[in-house]
Amino acid sequence: MALLVQKFGGTSVGSVDRIKAVANKIATCKELGNELVVVVSAMGQTTDELTNLAQTISKNPPQREMDMLLSTGEQVSIALLSIALNELGIQAVSMTGAQVGIVTESAHGRARILEVRTEPLKALLSEGKVVVVAGFQGTSLSSRGTAEITTLGRGGSDTSAVALATALEAETCEIFTDVPGVLTTDPRKESSAQLMPTLSCDEMLELASLGAAVLHPRAVELARNYGVTLRVRSSWTDDLGTILTSSNRRSQGREGLELGRPVDGLELIDKQAVIGLAHVPDKPGIAADLFEKLSVEGVNVDLIIQATHEGNSNDITFTVEEKELSKAKKISQSVLQEIGGELVTQNGMAKLSISGAGIMGRPGIAATLFDTLSRKGINIRLIATSEVKVSCVIDASLGAKGLRAISEAFELNESQIKINPEITGSGEPEVRGVAMDPDQAQVSVQGVPDKPGTAAALCSALAESGISLDAIVQSERQQKDGSRDISFTLKKCDLMQADNALSPLLAKWPGAHLKNGPAITRVSAVGAGMPAKPGTAARMFRALANAKINIALIATSEIRISCVVSEAEGIRALQAVHNYFELGNSLEKQNIQY
Ligand code: ADP
Ligand code: ASP
Ligand code: MG
Repeated sequence: MALLVQKFGGTSVGSVDRIKAVANKIATCKELGNELVVVVSAMGQTTDELTNLAQTISKNPPQREMDMLLSTGEQVSIALLSIALNELGIQAVSMTGAQVGIVTESAHGRARILEVRTEPLKALLSEGKVVVVAGFQGTSLSSRGTAEITTLGRGGSDTSAVALATALEAETCEIFTDVPGVLTTDPRKESSAQLMPTLSCDEMLELASLGAAVLHPRAVELARNYGVTLRVRSSWTDDLGTILTSSNRRSQGREGLELGRPVDGLELIDKQAVIGLAHVPDKPGIAADLFEKLSVEGVNVDLIIQATHEGNSNDITFTVEEKELSKAKKISQSVLQEIGGELVTQNGMAKLSISGAGIMGRPGIAATLFDTLSRKGINIRLIATSEVKVSCVIDASLGAKGLRAISEAFELNESQIKINPEITGSGEPEVRGVAMDPDQAQVSVQGVPDKPGTAAALCSALAESGISLDAIVQSERQQKDGSRDISFTLKKCDLMQADNALSPLLAKWPGAHLKNGPAITRVSAVGAGMPAKPGTAARMFRALANAKINIALIATSEIRISCVVSEAEGIRALQAVHNYFELGNSLEKQNIQY
C-alpha cells in the first residue's frame, strides 16, 4: 500500500468516455489498497476555449477575472470524475484548490505555490476516500481579507500534482498523459521519437523550458528540489513510462514551497581561455567546420556563443582550458585563412557559475548575478544561460572576489561552493533529447558600452517587468567608440513590453538602439553526458549544415546546446538533429525492453 498522487491531463479526461476510463484505472489502483490523491486538468481544449471567449469581449481582460473564468474548467472535470468513481462504488470526493489548501502568492495568472495545508486531505484519506483535486488553481488572501482564486500558469496542473506529492510525502507522483512518457523529442514533430525510460530532473528542466511541453517546468523544479519521485506515463496503457531522477532532498522550509532559494550551487573554474572569431561569413557549415577541426585535434571546447551582426557576418566565441589555447588558436587561424575574419584570444580567464532549478524562469536571479559582479567592478566577457545554470566568464584575477560576492548575494554556504570541480556526466548520453521553442524572438541591442554593469542594467530593466531573457550573446567585434552589441532571445509575447522596459535605459547610452530580428525558432539538444564528451556541438552544427540550415545564434550551457534558426526551418532543424544523433533508433539498438 502506498500514498500516490496521480495527475490526468486535459486529453485524458477530454470526454465522458475518457473520464470513465480514467475512473476505472483509478478504481483498480485503489482496490490494490493504495491511498490516492488524483489531480485533473480541464477537459480537452476547455482552457483555450474559455480564453477565446474572454478575448471576444476584451483584448486585455483583468487577470483576476481570467483566473475566475479559467478555474471553472478544472471544477467541471473534478466533479465528473468524482461522479464516475462513485458510480463504480469508489468513495471519492472532489475538492477545489482552495478547499484542499493550496495557498499561493497573489500574482494572478502565474501564482507560485507557497504552502499546501494537508490536514483536510489527510482527514479524507484516512476515511478511505479518493480525493479528486482541481489542478492549476490555488487561493491567496487579498489585501481586503477575501480568499481569491489564483491560477498557476498554463500547464500548471503538473505543478499542483507535484506540490501535493511534496506536501504529503507521497511515494510517487504519476503524471498520466497522451504520450507514453518523456520522448526523445515531440512525437508530433518527429514520428521516430522514442521513449526515455529514465532521465534526470536537470535534463528534464532544460527540455521543459526549451519547449518540451510534456511537463510544466515548475513541476520539475519541485520534484528536483524536494526529491519527489516523478513518473510520466500513458493514460491509455499500463506501461511504466519515464521515471525522473533527482539526488536532492530539500526539507520544506518556511520560505514557501515554490519560493525556496532557487540558487543552490556556485562554482569557479580557472585557467580558462577565450577565443573569438569576428566577421566570419554568415552561411551554413562555418561553425560545423571550425568545431569539427577542433574536435578532431582533441580540443575540448566548453562554452560556444555566436550571433549574427551588422553586415550579416558572424562572431563566434568559445572557451577552452588555458593549456589548449595554442592548439585551438592555430586551428582557428587556419580556418580564418580560408574564410576570412579576425582572431582575438585571451587567457587568464575564469568561469563563475551559479546553479539551481528554474533560474531563467525567475528573471531577477540572472539580474542579481550580473549586478553583484558589476558592483565589484568586474567586467563580464561572456555569458552562458540555461534553466539550471548561469555562467559568466571573467578575468581570473577577479575570480575569488567574484566568488565571495556571489556567495553572499545568494546566501550560499561552504558546502554549496566548488572550486575547479571534476567534469561530470561520463557514461551518460551526450544528447538525450531535442526540443524546439517556436515562441521566441531575437532582439539585439546595438552599441552598448563594454564596461561592468551593462548586462546587469539590461537584465534588471527586463526583470522588473517580469521578463526573462535567454541566450545572451555579447558581440566579439567592437565599434570605433569601444561599444558592442548584445543579442538575446525572449518570449515573443514579451517583445512589446521589452521595448518599453528598455527604452529609458537605451536613452542613457548614446548611439544604443534596439533591433528586432526576424521570426525565429530555437532548437536545442540536451544531455547530461555533454561535458564529458568532446565534439557534441560540432556534431549538432554538422547536422544543421548537412540540412543546409543557417544558424543565426548559438548559445551553449553545460548540458545543452541551443541554435536559433529561421522559423520556417524549425521543424526540419529539429528532425535533422534528432536523426543525426540517432535518437530515433538508439533504444532499439540498446535493446531496451518495456
Ligand atoms: P496534458 O494535457 O496531459 O498535460 P500536454 O499536452 O500538456 O498533456 O503534454 C503532452 C504533449 O507534450 C504530447 O502530446 C506531446 O505532443 C508534447 N511533447 C512535447 N515534447 C515532448 C517530449 N519530449 N516527450 C513527450 N511529449 C512531448
Ligand atoms: N487547464 C490548464 C491548461 O490548459 C492547466 C493544465 O492543463 O495543466 O493550461
Ligand atoms: Mg500539460
